[in-house]
This record gives sequence, C-alpha cells and structure tokens, in this order.
Amino acid sequence: MRQIAANVFGFSGWMMGRAYAIVDADGITLVDTGLQPAAAKIVKQLAVHGYRPPDIKRILITHAHPDHIGGLPELERLSGAVVYASAREKPVVEGREKSVYPPRETLSGIARLMAHDAELQPGTPVDAIIGEGDVIPALGGLRVIETPGHTAGHLAFWQPQPQQIEHHIPAKKNAALEPEIICFGHGSPLKNNAAAALQTFARRVANPTEKET
Ligand SMILES: [Zn+2]
Repeated sequence: MRQIAANVFGFSGWMMGRAYAIVDADGITLVDTGLQPAAAKIVKQLAVHGYRPPDIKRILITHAHPDHIGGLPELERLSGAVVYASAREKPVVEGREKSVYPPRETLSGIARLMAHDAELQPGTPVDAIIGEGDVIPALGGLRVIETPGHTAGHLAFWQPQPQQIEHHIPAKKNAALEPEIICFGHGSPLKNNAAAALQTFARRVANPTEKET
C-alpha cells in the first residue's frame, strides 16, 4: 500500500484493475476490489498499517468488471462493509447479469479476452445505489459523478477540497473539475497537475488530428 494523497492509498502487486483505500477516522473506504485474488492482498496490505477487515466500512464500485469486483465477495464477507454501486451496475455486481463490455473491436489484449469470456460474477448484494451528485461519507464528503462510457453505469468519485480522488475517463468531464490528483482504474495515478494532462488528453480525443503543442 502506498500513499497517493492525504488519506488516499493505492494497493500494489496485482495484474489488473486498481483499487484504492481512503482512510478516515471511522475506518476505511475501498474504491474497487481488483480481481478475486486481490482480496487477500488488500487484507494483508491493510494489516501492515494496523487495519483489520472490519475496519473496512464502505466499498465503492466504479463499475462491475471482474477486475474491479473480483475481490468483493470475500471483502464484503470479512468486513460487513456497505457496498455502493450505480443502479446500472447493480445487477452485474449481484451476479444476476453478465458484465457488459465496450465493442470488442475497441478492446485489445486481456480486456478483449475478458469481454469474450464474460460470465456471471459471484454475486454480492449492493446496499446503496448511488448516482450523480450523491455524497459518500468519506474523505470529508466524496461526490459521485456519473461517467458512462467504459460501462453504462460507470462512476467516478470526486473530493473538491482539500484533496481529490478521481476515476477513469470521460476525460472532458473530469478535466472540467480541474483535479490535481487522479487515481485511475488502470495505470498509475496522475499526481502533478493532473488537470492539465487530462485537458490535453480530452482535447486530443475531441480533435484527433490536432498537433501536439
Ligand atoms: Zn472495466
């Protein structure tokens, strides 16, 4: 577990799907849970910092792909945490519908394989359905932002002050918030002037022919 910002930590040592821990006075909020084997790694890395599974109070799901909800059944069982997800992702989190992927031709590598092999996930009940503008009682009030694209019910989480946590694109919408730090579902967090990097990316997506300046 390594620190990304005040009270925000990232886990390390698995292949796909990032997960993050927000540390508050009342306990831990997890953002996503990695693949199934990640559950044990999350428990182990939290233990290094003196936290036990029941200290996990909330688990926020950005979207219901197996590399984000794989560790959820075990973590929910060990912690009894409140599970949050969007209405669109809920049936997938609960194991009643298969994961939905973007068109296969837009995917590559492992994502393409996962999309091909989409199966029902082991279900975990969603306790709280969240959507645009809802506020999660973590990090002093974490605002829910709907960011459909990667999946229809994809969520990002935004803390305007004094530090921020973000997830995934659509880049334009997130860039408008001018975040300083962004934690993605895949890849490394952007820690220095994330807004500028995101704006450049959003511009390039909007105008693919535009030359780099
Ligand atoms: Zn995904």
